[in-house]
Amino acid sequence: MSCIFCDIANGILPAKIIYQDKDIIAFDDIHPKAPHHKLIIPRKHIATLNDISIDDKDLIANMTLVSQKLAVDLNIAETGYRILINCNKDGGQVVYHLHLHLLGGCKLSFAQW
Ligand code: 5GP
Ligand code: ZN
Repeated sequence: MSCIFCDIANGILPAKIIYQDKDIIAFDDIHPKAPHHKLIIPRKHIATLNDISIDDKDLIANMTLVSQKLAVDLNIAETGYRILINCNKDGGQVVYHLHLHLLGGCKLSFAQW
C-alpha cells in the first residue's frame, strides 16, 4: 500500500524537512493553513490515532516534545500555537499516516481547526 508520508520519511518524495531523529520526522505542510504549519510524523506507519497502543506512548510523547521544540525554534512558543490530530473522515483526516499538525504565527480561528 502506498503512503505519501512513508515516502517522505524514506526520502522517496521531497519535503522541506525541519527535524528528524530515528523515530520522528517533521516537515512543512504543502498547503499551509497558517504562517507556520508543520507536520510531525512517526517514521513507522500508523494509519490513524485509533491505531496507537500503549507501546506507542513514548513515540506520541516525543512527537509532542518535538512540536514544543519547533515552536521555540519558530519563535511562536510565547505568542502561542496549536497542535492537533485529525482522525478519520469526520475528523478531517486526508492522509492516513498519523501526523500531528503544528500551527502558529497568527491568531488562530476555530475554522483553522
Ligand atoms: P489531514 O487532513 O490528513 O489531517 O492533513 C493532511 C495534511 O497533509 C494536509 O494539511 C495537507 O496539506 C498535507 N499534505 C498532503 N500531501 C502532502 C505532501 O505531499 N507533502 C506535504 N508536505 N504535505 C502534504
Ligand atoms: Zn505511512
